[in-house]
Amino acid sequence: MDEQDLRAWMHRAADWSAAYLAGVGERPVRAQVAPGEVFRQIPAAPPEAGEPMEAIFADLDRVILPGMTHWQHPRFFAYFPANASPPSLVAEVVTAAMAAQCMLWQTSPAATELESRVTDWLRDMIGLPGEFSGVIQDSASGATLAALLTARERALGFAGNREGLSGQRAVRVYASAQVHSSVDKAVRIAGIGDGNLVRIPVRGPLHGMDPAALEAAVAADREAGHLPAAVVACLGGTSIGACDPIDAVAEVARRHGLFLHVDAAWAGSAMICPEFRDLMRGAALADSLVFNPHKWLFTHFDCSAHFVKDPRMLTDTLGLRPPFLRTLEREGVVDYSEWSVPLGRRFRALKLWFVIRSYGVEALREMIRCHVAFARDLAARIAAHPEFELVTGPILSLLTFRYAPAGAQDLDALNERLVARINDDGRTYLTQTRHDGHFVIRFQIGQTTTTWRDVEIAWEAVQEIAATLRSGAGAG
Ligand SMILES: *Cc1c(COP(=O)(O)O)cnc(C)c1O
Repeated sequence: MDEQDLRAWMHRAADWSAAYLAGVGERPVRAQVAPGEVFRQIPAAPPEAGEPMEAIFADLDRVILPGMTHWQHPRFFAYFPANASPPSLVAEVVTAAMAAQCMLWQTSPAATELESRVTDWLRDMIGLPGEFSGVIQDSASGATLAALLTARERALGFAGNREGLSGQRAVRVYASAQVHSSVDKAVRIAGIGDGNLVRIPVRGPLHGMDPAALEAAVAADREAGHLPAAVVACLGGTSIGACDPIDAVAEVARRHGLFLHVDAAWAGSAMICPEFRDLMRGAALADSLVFNPHKWLFTHFDCSAHFVKDPRMLTDTLGLRPPFLRTLEREGVVDYSEWSVPLGRRFRALKLWFVIRSYGVEALREMIRCHVAFARDLAARIAAHPEFELVTGPILSLLTFRYAPAGAQDLDALNERLVARINDDGRTYLTQTRHDGHFVIRFQIGQTTTTWRDVEIAWEAVQEIAATLRSGAGAG
């Protein structure tokens, strides 16, 4: 492909992308293919000779597109969002053109220095104090792993890195059952072990961890000769949006010298709106906090903003500097690969810079405020409906509900059928969780192009499909 061809295909890709986004709302939200359907349409062997781009593009439309779930659909209300935006898309294109590997300052000084600046912007936007330094990680999972490794080594005086974990005291980590499974995974990868992740009970309308129970668990562990190392607080848990009382948790952490990591992967973006910051009270006392602009801040995956109070602790844990990675005669520069598990890193700051500059912070706040307001209005409608129950929330823009018509017997099975039918229908896409032992349906609002009308259409679809379940083989 020469320069002329490249220009032509880049234009084609731009036209394809703009048309896709303009029409995505007409497509079924969740892919409607059966397992294996896409696989069988792709030849078992790669072509020996190059094929025309025209043919590849035709197969993109014919084979791939029907097998896609449309995350940028205005009625995508499943999981959490991965909301993107046009300025972010444009930035991703030019990032791909440069295709830089930004592991060290020297391998692209602008990438490193822009990352320092935009993470400072993000820190200030969510109201964290200036004593935090930021880095963009590949995922919240990666940030939480980095945080727990740091906590482990802080507790062990770096003996874990030097000698390994055998023969050390049991490193203990505390969290409620509402934290994301990435915490469980990090505890495994860090060699801490499932049995040393201590679950603290929750209470209250925000389903936050009980600080007195945390205090008691830490004291009991000290008594038993264990090594309490870290507490992970959630700000907007994945299941129902649970929020721990970070200020009270931080007080316990301070008393016992525990490292405090806050997982705000989804809800952190909403903290750009000062009126929601009650939920993060005490976050300034944390050692580490992560949130994902790639979830709810209109920036393409991958982009996790990780803030730490003491970057030295992080780089002492993860930073290795073999001779081939030294930046000669430039000591004192930041090499962000020392802040994370992977060495290689994409230029992720550029899309944030495009997004924040192109919208301006106030427009970003306004979009998030709309999502939260839509969720409150929807919650009121669900609560007022005689056959539906609002089960939790809304916490920010996430609520859970279930269909509970009078006289229906097995509500779990009924709601499981309901969510499957909704997603086969295609007008919207919702996912489920379990809460207090019950099967409930989640509804989160966070898409870039979602309007109140989209929420209404989805809610109408839910009611209509539920009614057919009840009149058909449904209830009971
Ligand atoms: C989505 C989510 C994660 C995982 O995020 P990744 O960036 O995909 O690793 C972690 N914690 C919470 C609360 C989440 O919602």
